[in-house]
Amino acid sequence: MMRQNPNPCALGATGDAAAFASIEISDEDRIAVLSESTKDALAKGSQKKELLHKFIAAKKAFLEDAKHIDTANKTNLEERLNSTIPKSKSTLKGFKNHDLSVKIVELLELCQILQNQYSQVGTRETRGNSKISLIKELLDLGDKVDQRVRFNIQNSESDPLLKGVMLSQAQRERSFSQSRVPSDTAIHMCIFCSHCSINEPIENTTLVESNQANINSHQVANGVWIKYQNDLKKASSGIQVAKPEHPQTRNGMTRAPRYPNVSSPILQCHCTMSKCAQEGTNVGSSCPIKCVANADTGERYPFENGICTCPMCCCCCSKAYNVSDMQRIGLKIMQVEQSKIEKDPPEVATSEFMSRMMGASIESANNMWERKQKEQQAHGTKNPGEEDLLNEQQVQDFFNADLAGNIL
Ligand SMILES: [Zn+2]
Ligand SMILES: [Zn+2]
Ligand SMILES: [Zn+2]
Ligand SMILES: [Zn+2]
Repeated sequence: MMRQNPNPCALGATGDAAAFASIEISDEDRIAVLSESTKDALAKGSQKKELLHKFIAAKKAFLEDAKHIDTANKTNLEERLNSTIPKSKSTLKGFKNHDLSVKIVELLELCQILQNQYSQVGTRETRGNSKISLIKELLDLGDKVDQRVRFNIQNSESDPLLKGVMLSQAQRERSFSQSRVPSDTAIHMCIFCSHCSINEPIENTTLVESNQANINSHQVANGVWIKYQNDLKKASSGIQVAKPEHPQTRNGMTRAPRYPNVSSPILQCHCTMSKCAQEGTNVGSSCPIKCVANADTGERYPFENGICTCPMCCCCCSKAYNVSDMQRIGLKIMQVEQSKIEKDPPEVATSEFMSRMMGASIESANNMWERKQKEQQAHGTKNPGEEDLLNEQQVQDFFNADLAGNIL
């Protein structure tokens, strides 16, 4: 397997694949989502107002803190807090849902800076600090908004390969777990963002089991059909051989049983849920690489303006895809990138990206699927005899070895 770097993930995604996955979320997108007043809206108007009331109440304390903590960063934090947090509750009186959302989105970046500053220098308040929990409340809402925006963007993708597999809410909320990294290194890296933040969702386990169960029962039925075929051959002319009964459905069999549809396992990228909580510590971090830039020295990616620059913390990829689609997705991404380059003459070298996409790693993960599918197709179209049973045995062995063994 070709790898340009022994640990590409420690360096983060580079080039076009990274650009492909990093959906830029604008404040307009955030405001639109936060202003929704549908049944599943993230926050009601009254909740937003209540949240802003809390900021108004804490405004003085925030401004006081900003004076002390922002001397080196030159973020105009005090000034910005002063102009962003409304003066009094009465200011909000005429605010519509949209205006409240604008205010909250404006506060997001400032709260990010405050959170980081507090984590470094602390606050004068102690545990259960209302300022810290208030900031957290707003940032948590911000995270949910970003997730919803990305989900909407992903949903609007018209190409099914690029759209990927749609996940349930519970699946989307999971973060990266070392124990769910695929054992096959060829599929460690996300095909969209090139980060090693791929996990196999727990649902793959039941999927492999049910695939196996389907294959097993097909084998039994196929055995019955083959026996019938042999009995036909052996029977002397004029003797009727009764058509067999399908062992599961109990219906009369008129043809060889169809090979069952085998579903592909899913791979899920967890970049969007990967974040470190504060600078210089792993406490509370869900980042797969723990923001380490150089695995040898343990050096971390720096924080800038209170925000971690780690490529995985910054990456908002939330793609999930079928293992069986990897090769086709790779080609699709290449086509999209290529058409961009043709429109927009190259400044960025794409050779690295191309060679990676063409790389053996993707092929190895897909060969088994291609082979299996071909065998499956061949099987479904012809009447099985002894050879077919052999083929099928091979498919199953293949399946057992590669799927159940390698992937899970
Ligand atoms: Zn990523
Ligand atoms: Zn990804
Ligand atoms: Zn980080
Ligand atoms: Zn990180």
